[in-house]
Amino acid sequence: MNIDDLAKGIAAGERRALARGITLVESSREDHRAQAIALLAALPKEREALRIGLSGTPGVGKSTFIESFGMMLIAHGLRVAVLAIDPSSSRSGGSILGDKTRMDLLSREKAAFIRPSPSQTHLGGVARRTREAVALCEAAGFDVVLIETVGVGQSETVVAEMSDVFLLLLAPAGGDELQGVKRGIMEMADIIVVNKADGDLKPAATRTCADYAGALRLLRKRSQDPDGFPKAMMVSALQESGLSETWREVQALTDWRRTNGFWVRTRAAQARYWFEQTVKHTLLAQLEAPKAKATLMKLSDEVAQGLVDPTKAAQDFVAQLDR
Ligand code: GDP
Repeated sequence: MNIDDLAKGIAAGERRALARGITLVESSREDHRAQAIALLAALPKEREALRIGLSGTPGVGKSTFIESFGMMLIAHGLRVAVLAIDPSSSRSGGSILGDKTRMDLLSREKAAFIRPSPSQTHLGGVARRTREAVALCEAAGFDVVLIETVGVGQSETVVAEMSDVFLLLLAPAGGDELQGVKRGIMEMADIIVVNKADGDLKPAATRTCADYAGALRLLRKRSQDPDGFPKAMMVSALQESGLSETWREVQALTDWRRTNGFWVRTRAAQARYWFEQTVKHTLLAQLEAPKAKATLMKLSDEVAQGLVDPTKAAQDFVAQLDR
């Protein structure tokens, strides 16, 4: 594979080149990894998409929202890429996000590019590859990259670490209780979007939205937020209402962050985060190599038999890793 040609194809916005590029960054084969790194280095750096993270539990209407929101963005003349991090695929091999036919209309649009979650053995691997896929989509000239995940903990953090804006999608609650959304996840949200604000569900949606607006006001003020953020709002993905308002709020927020230096600062902090994650990941992968494992086992036995001091054995082990 000629990496320079692939990079040129991606920069020219060719879908097939982009798809091939993503397949390359998703591969864990060592030669592919080297090519993927070369590809990322060969891509134009000046393009910048708006990266929107979107999280919500199964059934809240993520795919319906992405479909309607994505179609609206396209109607505004924007190009939209949709990526996903599916934590379930890393555990069971099954997938919450990927299997069903989703975003039917959007997937037929020339201005849209939809890619299901990579399947990997652990979330760290999925996250790293998705972040690289985001970079490829940016280089391909997409204006907006939506990164979707299911609300089951860890995966929100990794999506937030690669997003400029983070949306938490909720459904109307039956009672007036907050739907057991963990505080940590609420603290990540820039906008809480209460979906299904239509028909019989409208009153419940209104209540849920007010509850969350109240809860958000109690959170500690973050320096990267203008007045009024984070906020809660209502939409109906099905009836396509509230979507332009959501987009306006996203733009207002990102404009403010750009003007006030937070956009650049957040992206710099995210770059640091991914650098450190990758270092850790790479070191852990070294421990998993067969030779390292054998040495580790041998030293571990010697330590257990009292032949070597644990600290000394650890030091010897780490020293031989470099070689
Ligand atoms: P996901 O699992 O989060 O991707 O959720 P889906 O988009 O598949 O939606 C789950 C169910 O909720 C489907 O039956 C949708 O038709 C329904 N749904 C999604 N958005 C809305 C909405 O705005 N209003 C109503 N009433 N139902 C919706």
